[in-house]
Amino acid sequence: MDAPADPRAGWALPAPGRMPRTVDLEPLVVRVLAPNPSGMTLDGTNTYVVGAPGSGQAVLVDPGPDDAAHLAAVEAALASRDARCVAVLVTHHHGDHAEAALPWGERFGAPVAAGTAAVAGPRGRVLDHGERLALAGTTIGVVATPGHTGDHLAFRLESGAVLVGDHVLGRGTSVVTHPEGDVVAYLESLRRVHDLGPSALYCGHGPELTEDPGAVLDYYLAHRAYREHQLLTALAAGAASVEDLVATVYAEVPRSLWPAAAQSTRATLAKLRAEGRVQGGIEPGAAEPVRLA
Ligand SMILES: [Zn+2]
Repeated sequence: MDAPADPRAGWALPAPGRMPRTVDLEPLVVRVLAPNPSGMTLDGTNTYVVGAPGSGQAVLVDPGPDDAAHLAAVEAALASRDARCVAVLVTHHHGDHAEAALPWGERFGAPVAAGTAAVAGPRGRVLDHGERLALAGTTIGVVATPGHTGDHLAFRLESGAVLVGDHVLGRGTSVVTHPEGDVVAYLESLRRVHDLGPSALYCGHGPELTEDPGAVLDYYLAHRAYREHQLLTALAAGAASVEDLVATVYAEVPRSLWPAAAQSTRATLAKLRAEGRVQGGIEPGAAEPVRLA
């Protein structure tokens, strides 16, 4: 099995660190990039301002870090559309997406909606798959996309674009966290978004993917299958711990990302163990070696 080719390699995407701070993506959507770049957040967190032009209203999706400069940029984007924030939607509970949700919701007098009450807060709303939210002069569809985390949601716009949070990233691939994440659910969620036939993927981090979103989703599915194949091959060759496996399979990835790689590795081993193909210790600190069943 060969490594799948990333279709984005041939696309004219902005280089890392070169994404504009605020950009109109389509009549319904402005993207505001938060100033929190890192190995895990890429260029930073993307906050989306969504609403029909002229409605006077907008929804924030993933407000991101509770940062004064970011808040000022988001408020400027709202002001440029003469819009007030009427709701804050959150894709998942990680702080780089959710930290500002409750404080900004309070500031704007807008309810927070998310997949769990922990994120939505005491006056917020917990969203279910298939809901259609009539907000800011448009309709936003709620799409359950568990995998990266258990509570992950995507939001489908009337234009056909899907706001995918950390389900799909603008560059590279995402992490299936462990023990919260779930590889089987993640693969199902990738197929679910693929089946929507998205016109664009607006990612939680990195550039928006407009050229061929379906090809990126196919690549993500192939990438996960390839990682599984690599883990089984490394186990057959004698690797006996998660640390061995990460050092082998992620040899080309910067070491600063190995802790995240270890999470995806454990999540994939958990799937293989459930399938009866692997046995042994896959949890952090496990004494028992991991091996082929
Ligand atoms: Zn994130």
